[in-house]
Amino acid sequence: MSEAAASTVDVLVVGGGSAALCAAIAARRSGVSVRMVEWAPAAMRGGNTRHARNFRLMHDRSAWYVPGTYSEDAFFRDLLRVTQGATDERLARALIRGSATIAQWLGDNGVRLQDPAAGAMPYSQRTAFFLGGGKAMINALYMTAAKLGVTISYDSEVVELAFGDARVCEADIAHGGGIERVLAKTMVVCSGGYQANFDWLRESFGAAADGFMIRGTPYVTGSVLRLLLDAGVRPVGDSSRCHMVAVDARGPKFDGGIVTRITAIPHGIVVDRDGRRFHDEGEDARKTHFARWGARIADCPGQIAYLIMDAKGLNRALPTALPPIRADTVAALATALGLDQAALETTIRDFNAAIATDDVPLTARCTSGLTPPKSRGAVALVDPPFAAYPMRPGVTFMHFGVAVDEQMRVLRNDGKPASNVFAAGMIMAANVLGDGYLAGLGVALSTVFGRLAGEEAARLAGR
Ligand SMILES: Cc1cc2nc3c(=O)[nH]c(=O)nc-3n(C[C@H](O)[C@H](O)[C@H](O)COP(=O)(O)OP(=O)(O)OC[C@H]3O[C@@H](n4cnc5c(N)ncnc54)[C@H](O)[C@@H]3O)c2cc1C
Repeated sequence: MSEAAASTVDVLVVGGGSAALCAAIAARRSGVSVRMVEWAPAAMRGGNTRHARNFRLMHDRSAWYVPGTYSEDAFFRDLLRVTQGATDERLARALIRGSATIAQWLGDNGVRLQDPAAGAMPYSQRTAFFLGGGKAMINALYMTAAKLGVTISYDSEVVELAFGDARVCEADIAHGGGIERVLAKTMVVCSGGYQANFDWLRESFGAAADGFMIRGTPYVTGSVLRLLLDAGVRPVGDSSRCHMVAVDARGPKFDGGIVTRITAIPHGIVVDRDGRRFHDEGEDARKTHFARWGARIADCPGQIAYLIMDAKGLNRALPTALPPIRADTVAALATALGLDQAALETTIRDFNAAIATDDVPLTARCTSGLTPPKSRGAVALVDPPFAAYPMRPGVTFMHFGVAVDEQMRVLRNDGKPASNVFAAGMIMAANVLGDGYLAGLGVALSTVFGRLAGEEAARLAGR
């Protein structure tokens, strides 16, 4: 490591999202000194939790913030289903059990939840919603951390790490044009995945990566993840897998959040840049269908696709952040989208001709003799104005990170835990989320494991 002025602390927490905040607060409440370093400036602090709305929690009775019950086994079954078994059961159960007390813990640390009966949130027996969203949650935790005496540095990027069994942890932090060295008894790494690093994405996805959009913070570049892997920490998951959803291609490259999701796909047809349909738009009509379309669009030429609707489909669609592109004719719509007019007209003519009858309920209406079919909600596109959304894959997080044990210590390539380096949040999410996603799992994971890692790191530092 380079020469630098050194400061010391008991626990160093790397990152500024919900995992880092929970780790810092838990460690500080255990009585040790804590320094938290967030690469983002104060106005952008909080990582992707700024965009989150809810978190998943086990509960054996209803509470004012979540109705009904959600048992440990039901939670675990849901996790097994979405991951198709790509989960470490011991860690998964630790997460689920930890989620049973996390709402109370967050409340004790200033976070406010929403009463489902009083707000406009969707009914959910499995998740609780933050009052004011993830940004309010983050702000509350920052305020608590500061009040407790956690030293918080913004605009501070960890650029070098050194650690080992018989030594303190060392981190070089780039800040204000200089480098500060911090020596810490223990370290908790909560710096997220690497989805904002296009060079790394290109290694995993090839040139297609340039067509991706990143739904969250540009500061999650995986620089610390790379330092850990280079230092001999064991990787977990698959670096070529990520969670991606269909987002509006006109949104920002980074940080579009949840409002750029395209949620109206069952109400129209989807064509590629050659004006051709390529998948059954009725296959999945659930609210979360857009999550299946991210990977499909990533496989399209140019990583772009277009949702096309007529006036009927548009009337059924929810409002969007950016208005759809409209035109009175299919030809004019094709021109506005830069598509071949004849190709789009042919696709729509063939689609309309394949709808057998309008005489059945909308959900049962399907095409016949068309490849690919539309198996549900097939309605002829005939009523102007015609409308379209250009769509790209929007990456939420990677199914790749570092392996940890049940105390959140990172595991080395030889399978042994590092004695004083812990990890929490999305950087280790692939231990329990090797594939797929469950609503509210990201924040459950970052808060439960952040808290646990902070407690463990403090226990060791205080010895
Ligand atoms: C649009 C969107 C909506 C979402 N909605 C939900 C939801 O409703 N519910 C849910 O459960 N989950 C949701 N998620 C997922 C959830 O936001 C994440 O799981 C959660 O924020 C992870 O928190 P984290 O602290 O582990 O990491 P991140 O949020 O990835 O934060 C990493 C932090 O590390 C910092 N950092 C990175 N590199 C360095 C470095 N070298 N030095 C110092 N700091 C560094 C970053 O600035 C950042 O603050 C959503 C994600 C997105 C993108």
